[in-house]
Amino acid sequence: MPEQKSDNWRTKTKLVRGGTMRSEFGETSEAIYLTSGFVYDSAEQAEQTFLGEVDHYQYSRFANPTVSMLEERLCLLEGATLCRTTASGMSAVFGALMASVSAGDRVVASRALFGSNHFIISELLPRYGITTVLVDGENLDQWEEALSQPTQAVFIESPSNPNLGVVDLKAVSVLAHKSGAKVIIDNVFATPILQKPLELGADVVVYSATKHIDGQGRCLGGAVLTSDEEWGNDKLVPFLRNTGPAISPFNAWVMLKGLETLELRVTQMAENALTLAKFLETRPELSRVLYPSLKSHPQHDLAMSQMGGGSTIVTFDIKGGKKEAFAALNRLQLIDISNNLGDAKSLVTHPATTTHSKLSEEEQTNLGISAGTIRLSVGLEDVDDLMEDLAQALAG
Ligand SMILES: *Cc1c(COP(=O)(O)O)cnc(C)c1O
Repeated sequence: MPEQKSDNWRTKTKLVRGGTMRSEFGETSEAIYLTSGFVYDSAEQAEQTFLGEVDHYQYSRFANPTVSMLEERLCLLEGATLCRTTASGMSAVFGALMASVSAGDRVVASRALFGSNHFIISELLPRYGITTVLVDGENLDQWEEALSQPTQAVFIESPSNPNLGVVDLKAVSVLAHKSGAKVIIDNVFATPILQKPLELGADVVVYSATKHIDGQGRCLGGAVLTSDEEWGNDKLVPFLRNTGPAISPFNAWVMLKGLETLELRVTQMAENALTLAKFLETRPELSRVLYPSLKSHPQHDLAMSQMGGGSTIVTFDIKGGKKEAFAALNRLQLIDISNNLGDAKSLVTHPATTTHSKLSEEEQTNLGISAGTIRLSVGLEDVDDLMEDLAQALAG
């Protein structure tokens, strides 16, 4: 029998109990410490706290007990030794990148990026003297070419938004480390349940906790996780402490409660997604269905070798174009039109005119987004109700 230590617990146990710190009142649920500051017993204790000689909470921009419980639970889930949570997914992405680069440095990223990630990498970083190179994430030759020069950071989303393109995380991590780069993975689409980037060779994992970790559409939040403690303590923590993208203790508590059911939700959502993907493949109104666990996915084998399921998103192309796509979306009666994802409620969006509307037509084409592309985030409703809603919307 393994020792009853939280590191040895299985995933479901970690998600329910990991990181819990009970107060003197013995509460069952984690307490919300909605406080900005903390008081000291004496001037000496305050001095010792600032000298780092005693452990004492100082200020909620640095650390807060509810936030610490969330960070510890996320560390256990991801198999990381250091976690910092942030006010949104974007502050997590920005913090991880800013902790990794300085003027004169070079970043290589996969081209298929979430809109705001694209802005940071293609527009913001170059303004501060950082060179950025975008590659076709599925093409290892392009990674090899781009990483043949010294590089400080590699940024990857896999599976990508919206077309669920898969990057070979093991192979790219090896190439990246040879070039001197830290590998940062935005693991939102895979979720911490279906993919473990640190085990595949990555250095840093970032999340928008807004998506599956909350998973019920309530709060924004983000997380950065690593086992590279030198980078974490010397680069990431000072950046976050001093620039202040701290998560609210209330939102951290919502995320803690979200984590308790994360495995159950993601497993069920991925099962529903596979059922719907198979159903959509039979529909004559569609020209393409993309879902990593389908044999027809262009990188099915690679996806299944590094993921424990196909994700909770299915993307498909309606024959025709924008008119046909909009008509189908407008006929949906159960599934909501929304650009969010990872929610218990199934949500659908038209990437070309919403999440990816800032890209030029050429950039959209490069990413495989057409006027008929629809992204479906599959929720927790009864899959037969979802199927009936899609069937009537497609049939028109
Ligand atoms: C939503 C999302 C983000 C940004 O997260 P926010 O919580 O909205 O700031 C980053 N990356 C991916 C892949 C996302 O889906």
